[in-house]
Amino acid sequence: MEKSYLEATFQKIEDNIKIIRFNVEKAAKESGRNAKDVKIMAVTKTVEPVYINKAIELGIDLIGESKVQEFIGKKDELRLDNIEKHFIGHLQTNKVKNIVGSVDLIQSVDRVKLAREISKHSIRNNISTKVLLEVNIGKEESKFGFMPEEVHESLAQISEFQGIEVCGLMTVPPISSNIDETRSFFSNMRQLFIDIEAKKLDNVNMNVLSMGMSGDYVHAVSEGSTLIRVGSAIFGNRNYR
Ligand SMILES: *Cc1c(COP(=O)(O)O)cnc(C)c1O
Repeated sequence: MEKSYLEATFQKIEDNIKIIRFNVEKAAKESGRNAKDVKIMAVTKTVEPVYINKAIELGIDLIGESKVQEFIGKKDELRLDNIEKHFIGHLQTNKVKNIVGSVDLIQSVDRVKLAREISKHSIRNNISTKVLLEVNIGKEESKFGFMPEEVHESLAQISEFQGIEVCGLMTVPPISSNIDETRSFFSNMRQLFIDIEAKKLDNVNMNVLSMGMSGDYVHAVSEGSTLIRVGSAIFGNRNYR
């Protein structure tokens, strides 16, 4: 890779992170929130380690990977010692063993069976694994996640599992050009988050509300997100080879 290209890309990443921080601060302030309560995750799928390490060096709050094979392949080249890392992609039951113990939190628990498998491997490794439940807030056929009306019942089952700690909720809302619609999905997530916390279940504490991506994170912050997951707005458009 040519040095000037690398330097220019580093600069772009730095500028992008500054812009996102600025926008988060503005949205937080306007909605009476503290920007410190909103963590910014760099979503690293398809991104080469040299750029991920740059984002880490620039002080991004955490990183998120969504493909098991890709994460395993890149992991040794990443400077992960002092950064929180989450798994955010769809996780097949037979790959749970590759992820439990390698990340700080799994955001994409979308079925009771997956939670049971995470529990099993955590117990085997003598650890406790933090997870978020993924909610299909727009009830889309094409998406993973618990339907909003089934979250409470599934959570009651999951809260019985050992070696697993539910720390909050995650969602990817429907793509919409209507801001009011997008905001209402985020607002429904926030209500679900509050309702679950009020139940005071064992092994369940609603600390993380993970919502907002490159195209909609400002609205997510306005509606109460505590963790935004940003890929292309940091690293540029993804190149799926
Ligand atoms: C890819 C991805 C993101 C980031 O998407 P951008 O639009 O590039 O910010 C966030 N969350 C999940 C679950 C993803 O898979």
